Amino acid sequence: MAKHIFVTGGVVSSLGKGITAASLGHLLKARGYQVTMQKMDPYLNVDPGTMSPFQHGEVFVTEDGHEGDLDLGHYERFIDENLTRESNFTQGSIYQSLIARERRGDYLGGTVQVIPHVTEAIKARLRRIADQTGADIVISEIGGTVGDIESLPFIEAARQFKKELPYGDVLFVHVTLVPYIAAAHEVKTKPTQHSVKELRSIGVQPDFIVCRSDHEIEDGVREKIALFCDVRPEEVLVCTDAPSIYEVPLGLHEQRFDEMVLDRLCLERRSADLAPLRSFLAAADACDEEVDVAVVGKYVSLPDAYLSVIEALGHAGVRCGCRVNVHLVDGEELSDANAGAVLGGMDGILVPGGFGQRAFEGKIAAARYARKQGIPYLGICLGLQAAVCMFARDAAGMSGATSAEFDAEAAFPVVDLMPEQEDVEGKGGTMRLGAYPCKVEPGTKAFEAYGESIIYERHRHRYEVNNAFRERLVEAGLSVSGASPDGRLVEMVELPGHPWFVASQGHPEFKSRPTRPHPLFCGFVSAAAVRRA
Ligand code: GLN
Repeated sequence: MAKHIFVTGGVVSSLGKGITAASLGHLLKARGYQVTMQKMDPYLNVDPGTMSPFQHGEVFVTEDGHEGDLDLGHYERFIDENLTRESNFTQGSIYQSLIARERRGDYLGGTVQVIPHVTEAIKARLRRIADQTGADIVISEIGGTVGDIESLPFIEAARQFKKELPYGDVLFVHVTLVPYIAAAHEVKTKPTQHSVKELRSIGVQPDFIVCRSDHEIEDGVREKIALFCDVRPEEVLVCTDAPSIYEVPLGLHEQRFDEMVLDRLCLERRSADLAPLRSFLAAADACDEEVDVAVVGKYVSLPDAYLSVIEALGHAGVRCGCRVNVHLVDGEELSDANAGAVLGGMDGILVPGGFGQRAFEGKIAAARYARKQGIPYLGICLGLQAAVCMFARDAAGMSGATSAEFDAEAAFPVVDLMPEQEDVEGKGGTMRLGAYPCKVEPGTKAFEAYGESIIYERHRHRYEVNNAFRERLVEAGLSVSGASPDGRLVEMVELPGHPWFVASQGHPEFKSRPTRPHPLFCGFVSAAAVRRA
């Protein structure tokens, strides 16, 4: 039987609840337990796939093609396990299935209610992920902030769940904010007291409280929180802002968090192997070079929109011994006229995934500048499509070549809707999603990076390189360095003769882990370092 840990958040959102949960996951896995994680989101969208990155940050794609919350990315990177669609569900998806059953007549005239029907459905998901993964420990993060109306059914389900399982099988971790009030020169515990009071009023007593703060929290403050919130002082953990998120697990470990959690769950205290994480952090510390990389996108005002890309650059940087300074460049402001001024000092240019016309011409200008100046270029999904449009225009005589996503009447739609997408009408969960195989051509930069001929990357797109123009592009010098095993879909392209210009239709950033950086990112960052030197 799996043990369950629920992670709730108090006071404000964006506290790093996901990182706290993921850090605990890392520690428990390092102690030899099989850990799985999930995010339960209280909003009514069926999944985050249809939400703007401006609203919700990046959409993280799992191997099995779930369009998930960005916290799944933290989980995968911290526990170094591939998660599935089981690891993320929303209140919207719960309602969708209940309403479908109600319409079918499954409730035989009964009234369908939040308690017990919604809470039962949530508990069924808790049992299901435990059964399907066979994990020793399931960590479930409840999205939102305690006190929100919409998160109530989740907290209530977790409360009921605890009562249905044997003593010692379920525990609650509450993550709160301890703000520093400059005028008073002190940190304040009242918001934490209030949010724990709120949590207790709905029947949940936290076992541990993790205090996030940008200031040191003294023992006296810890004791005060313990007294008011009915936990022991050592059960109040302190998590101050860290220079790297990967230091968070070590900070919690020093406070014996993992040890106390195992004791409370009646699990044996196996020894912790934190060596891989420690050596990653030591290598990060020892980086004595740096490179500047431009990430040319559209959602640049919210770096979380490019979270996995930024993380993957960091992981590859550590492997290559250099710190990667990421410069988010707004593609909407970029043109051939100012490309030199904006991108001239960059050692690498990355164009990540995206949707919609806005900023697309700027992304083409970025690809063009990289090609002309010999600056390493990594294109991802829309970044591949932009590179192909640029090449068609500049090298294959197809003036105005573009993607049919932006101009259905274009003379040269070098990127077009995939045939299987033609009759798709709904927007939710209908793209080409999840891991697909790709055959990499020997002798290419891609092959040099991967070192193998069949690779898998996660996809999330509707458009692809148009085969009607493929031969013309290849004749003009574009190398198709990766394709689907049946040869039908272009998966990777590159420019022979350029120091490093590679683009991928799949999203390599989702598979990068701190201790296992992604080969394409490593190839890109080391080419950037070569240019820098
Ligand atoms: N909008 C493009 C498509 O749907 C690219 C998608 C992406 O970059 N993830 O094909």
